[in-house]
Amino acid sequence: MLYNLRINLMEPKKNCNLCSRLVDLREKNKILFPNFFNDRVLGIGPLYSKLLIIGLAPGLRGANRTGKIFNGDFSGNLLFSFLKKYNITENYDEFNEIKNIRCRITNAVKCLPPKNKPTTDEIKTCNTFLEAEINKMKQLNVILTFGQIAHNSLIIAFNKKPSEYKFKHQKKHKINNQITLINSYHCSRYNINTKRLKLSDLDNIFKLIKELLNL
Ligand code: SF4
Repeated sequence: MLYNLRINLMEPKKNCNLCSRLVDLREKNKILFPNFFNDRVLGIGPLYSKLLIIGLAPGLRGANRTGKIFNGDFSGNLLFSFLKKYNITENYDEFNEIKNIRCRITNAVKCLPPKNKPTTDEIKTCNTFLEAEINKMKQLNVILTFGQIAHNSLIIAFNKKPSEYKFKHQKKHKINNQITLINSYHCSRYNINTKRLKLSDLDNIFKLIKELLNL
């Protein structure tokens, strides 16, 4: 069924119903949090970008609330503070549209999963959209994945062997002659608080990205 969906689909439609468990959660959240966005959250940034950043999925009180990717919570604030520091974007907040974004940002799974843990089937189903998004990025040179699930999704999208591309924090992988993949732990509050991910790691990663892209 998965492969029948791979026909020029770029984005999931509003109220996409391909993952029943995520649809159930969305319907519950529409009652619990009627002022939240409660829908799939799409990627932002030009498709002609050389850099693609892939996160896991919308957070309940972040993108699932505001409707904007990596927005309205700790992870979003942290990521965008680094994008601003390295001159990749300008400000981005809940109330204003982003300006001068020089990368594309998307998620492996476009809907909020329970406990931030999508199932393998949900990851594979939503990969249709991730793959379509990547296929449109003809000038892509660098991909930064936040966390194991984003990394695995990327490997599925490129139809590579997972055994040849193991996730490792701060590791560089060559996907093909054009594209380098960089792994990072997710920029979550938990990972920062536990020092699993250090701010100096993010500095190293963004310096490497700038170097690879000649920015
Ligand atoms: S996670 Fe992706 S495929 Fe599943 S319902 Fe949401 S948009 Fe559709």
